[in-house]
Amino acid sequence: MTVLYSIRMRAAQGGPHEQGGRHISGAERLVVPAAIAATVTGMVVRALHHSRGRADFINVTVEAVAPTAVRQVALLPVETVPVQDYHAGRAAALARLAAAGVAPAAADQALAALLVLNESMRGAMLVDASTGQRVDTYGQRGVRVTRMDISPDGEQVLRHALRRHGLDNDHVREALVLASKVVSAPGVLAELCWSDDPEYTAGYVATAAGYVRFPHLKPIGSGIGGRVVFLTSSKAAEKSVAYLQNQAVVVVPTADWHIAC
Ligand code: AMP
Repeated sequence: MTVLYSIRMRAAQGGPHEQGGRHISGAERLVVPAAIAATVTGMVVRALHHSRGRADFINVTVEAVAPTAVRQVALLPVETVPVQDYHAGRAAALARLAAAGVAPAAADQALAALLVLNESMRGAMLVDASTGQRVDTYGQRGVRVTRMDISPDGEQVLRHALRRHGLDNDHVREALVLASKVVSAPGVLAELCWSDDPEYTAGYVATAAGYVRFPHLKPIGSGIGGRVVFLTSSKAAEKSVAYLQNQAVVVVPTADWHIAC
């Protein structure tokens, strides 16, 4: 089996993140050696031409992952719930979270925590699905989900299907891979996300049952996005964080994988 390389990029403006720089962009891939150079170049170009501003700090890490350490997980099926605006989108997203078993008060609290951010985080908040309390210790940085990608064959299948629905873009592809990893983590019940790209208003709720897109979860022009990962219990937090941050995952579409839009 070929060795895969984890490639991770984070970019900021006003200096490195750890010295107060404003987060501009991040990216995560897991690629074969022959794809390393092009992937790194693509990430650096993205950081320099981002709609959130031009990065003046770019950190790219390239690291081999032992083939035995890679786990395969299923690509989530995709569904779109049409909504008129972000008010309707948020109400529909809250209803999905509740249907997945997140306590309605906890979902409200998590949504409120995203709405009071005055700057985007780099990672996700981990929240107890019963109490709505934040359970990770990563503050404004959040927990960064890394070391995941789709299999090369899976990417062809995914892009072909997304193209037919006009959805073949980086946002959807990367979010689907990330969400497929997130809901495969121990102790994870659901994820809520919307982008920090000011031009991209869509977001999603993911559970083990699938990835549900809402075309509007924030107003156009807002550069503040975020992710909340709901855990079944705060006791699971350490295991969940270790998996999200370190477990190498290749996402693969199963034979019954589908998009319903
Ligand atoms: P994006 O979907 O890339 O626009 O990101 C939206 C928000 O999700 C960001 O502001 C971060 O808070 C969070 N985020 C982005 N990438 C990751 C990641 N790899 N792991 C955890 N959270 C992330």
